[in-house]
Amino acid sequence: MGKRLPNPRLAKLHRNYTIEEVANLFGIHKNTVGNWIKQGLSVCGRKRPFLILGRDLRVFLEAKKVKNKRPCKPDEIYCVRCRSPKKPDADLIEYRTITDTLGNLVALCPDCESIMNRRISLDKLKQIPAYSNIAQSLAEIHITPCINPSVNSDFSKGKKHYAQTSS
Ligand SMILES: [Zn+2]
Repeated sequence: MGKRLPNPRLAKLHRNYTIEEVANLFGIHKNTVGNWIKQGLSVCGRKRPFLILGRDLRVFLEAKKVKNKRPCKPDEIYCVRCRSPKKPDADLIEYRTITDTLGNLVALCPDCESIMNRRISLDKLKQIPAYSNIAQSLAEIHITPCINPSVNSDFSKGKKHYAQTSS
């Protein structure tokens, strides 16, 4: 309750910090820094003194702040590495079909460039304005995906049936 989070901007991007230095910087206990590391704050090296990159520290604290504030917005995808929801570049999002109604949004995190995944139904995808382009281009590809409507075992083999263009 009511615990103020340290200001991420106090961490200088191009500096390394020891745990003690981080504690001093934010006026907190060393154990709190230890907890952050357990929560996913990256440290360099396997032996003491551990060094924490200012950049990692800032990203971690900012993610913490965001996480406290709000969940993923409809047009955001959660970045596991940044531990926060990110809004990917609309041009760099790919939708990978899982079933006729369900798929995976795959995108690059704008901050750390790791791959983010979000499972989403096609219906929902269409409802999100930021993704309408994807849904639309999908609709263009997806003309009569299967010739035989009474699909059976053939479907599970992962064969793709493309509509033939009549010339
Ligand atoms: Zn990220």
